[in-house]
Amino acid sequence: MNNNVENLRRELIRLCDRIGRRVQLMEVCGTHTVSAFRSGLKSMLPANLKLLSGPGCPVCVTAQRHIDAALELARRETVAIATYGDMMRVPGRNGSLERLRSLGARIRVVTSARAALELARNEPNSEVVFLGVGFETTAPAAAATVLEAEAGGIENFSVLSCHKLVIPAMRALLSAGDVPIDGFLCPGHVSVIIGSEAYRPIVDDFGKPCVVAGFEFGQMLAGLVHLLRQIECGTPKLENVYDAVVRPEGNSVALGLLSRVFVEADTVWRALGVIPVSGLEFAPAYRRFDALRRFGMALGEDVDHPVCRCGEVIQGRVEPNRCALFGGGCTPMTPIGPCMVSGEGACSAWFKYGPKPGRSAEPSDAKMEGVT
Ligand code: SF4
Repeated sequence: MNNNVENLRRELIRLCDRIGRRVQLMEVCGTHTVSAFRSGLKSMLPANLKLLSGPGCPVCVTAQRHIDAALELARRETVAIATYGDMMRVPGRNGSLERLRSLGARIRVVTSARAALELARNEPNSEVVFLGVGFETTAPAAAATVLEAEAGGIENFSVLSCHKLVIPAMRALLSAGDVPIDGFLCPGHVSVIIGSEAYRPIVDDFGKPCVVAGFEFGQMLAGLVHLLRQIECGTPKLENVYDAVVRPEGNSVALGLLSRVFVEADTVWRALGVIPVSGLEFAPAYRRFDALRRFGMALGEDVDHPVCRCGEVIQGRVEPNRCALFGGGCTPMTPIGPCMVSGEGACSAWFKYGPKPGRSAEPSDAKMEGVT
């Protein structure tokens, strides 16, 4: 550990001591969740500091009804589905894309929206539907691909837009008011696009400290220290320790692509229901690329698994190993919910790196009881 990191570690311990109460900080992003485990950060936190996983794993927040729409499209003879690999095993109401593919449906794993468009170019007799999953990080690439399809006159390409926006989800969590969150470690990747200033309303309207941080151990540690300093002083602020990469105003090119192709709209999140203006649907000029419109489909309803607690996990309400299925009926090989499917999902991160089923993640939990 270099001197700087060691100093931060000491500062973190000192601040937690001085604050003297339980502090809960939410790492919004799934990559932060995995990094906190993998780097050892999570296991070195003082007893009164807890990291909560948030709604920042794109696969985990995709509603079942979107998966079901993809399954319905995949059953059509003329349609080929193009999707990121993580979506293959997410269960819908009746099976998964992986299962449908084993039964002969044309479902292709791609690593980008551009690759899905290539598929459409190469298969002019198919209707290629790209599953547009993800936050502001991936949505600009989907927008650019739609523009490319338009410019190239490619008409057999469409997108099932499941894109989500981060800030409305944070607002919804805080508005619900029943998960004590003392501050947010804001996601590096999304922040590159939306800019650090995008979090200003979280500070101003809710009085919650926000610090943008990258994914390295030292970055996350610095982010936590900045949050704790704010909490100690009682002055919530917006800070950015990832300023080598994240600008206050974000990426104007990417934001321009988004606002040209999409408009903000209400959308449904897994277990969170419909969150106002938290998604992206096609702007009028590009509606012919909307898969739901093209195929005359409407989204159905979600029927949540009676035991799976993914909805609570992505809101920081429970830790994964509180789910009765964790590590038994639900493992990365036999996932029941999306949080165990995705590499960024909290359940999968806990399964790989966390304490074993039946034990608390924080050995200190017992000590924490009564600490407020
Ligand atoms: S362990 Fe499995 S069933 Fe339980 S919340 Fe996580 S993904 Fe859902």
